[in-house]
Amino acid sequence: MSRFAEPMSRLIDELKKLPGVGAKSAQRLAFHILRSSDEDAEALAAAVRDVKANLHLCSICNNITDVEPCVYCTSVTRNQRLVCVVEEPTNIAAIEKTKHFNGVFHVLHGAISPLHGIGPEQLRISNLISRVDSGNVDEVILATNPTIEGEATAVYLSQQFKRAGVKVTRIAMGIPVGSDIEYTDEVTMLKAMEGRRDM
Ligand SMILES: [Zn+2]
Repeated sequence: MSRFAEPMSRLIDELKKLPGVGAKSAQRLAFHILRSSDEDAEALAAAVRDVKANLHLCSICNNITDVEPCVYCTSVTRNQRLVCVVEEPTNIAAIEKTKHFNGVFHVLHGAISPLHGIGPEQLRISNLISRVDSGNVDEVILATNPTIEGEATAVYLSQQFKRAGVKVTRIAMGIPVGSDIEYTDEVTMLKAMEGRRDM
């Protein structure tokens, strides 16, 4: 038997599903929500509903967006022929904070990982391939993470695009191996972008 009334246990159970939230934190959050004003609680519920109802993936680059295509893909000041490939939508912010990249993006939503049964067919690659095949891309920068999975993904993609005759570069390993580009400082990220190499 739960120590809490049913609606409370239900909220705690839902919060426990969030990454990094254990039983104790879930209880603390649930009680915070219970004590908060009706407006605050409703705003939280509405924000959760809204991200599911109003956000989708850009049909060109797979970035998470509320407009179609996304702001990067429709920007007239960005070089639409220079495409930076990243694993996750959150990685875009890491590239953007260098303030030195003026191209556009492609989000794979993952990386090749045979250990976890993730092959190229599980990633969102097809729209990038058609973008390259249509002759609208001069250079593809592979900014996948410097991990075994990120490297495997970069090697796979470079083989795909070599055939299309497009320039393919890989960001330099200024970033420690095994880390995540999401947590890289601006200087390291800028060095990594400047030191990208042919593949
Ligand atoms: Zn886009």
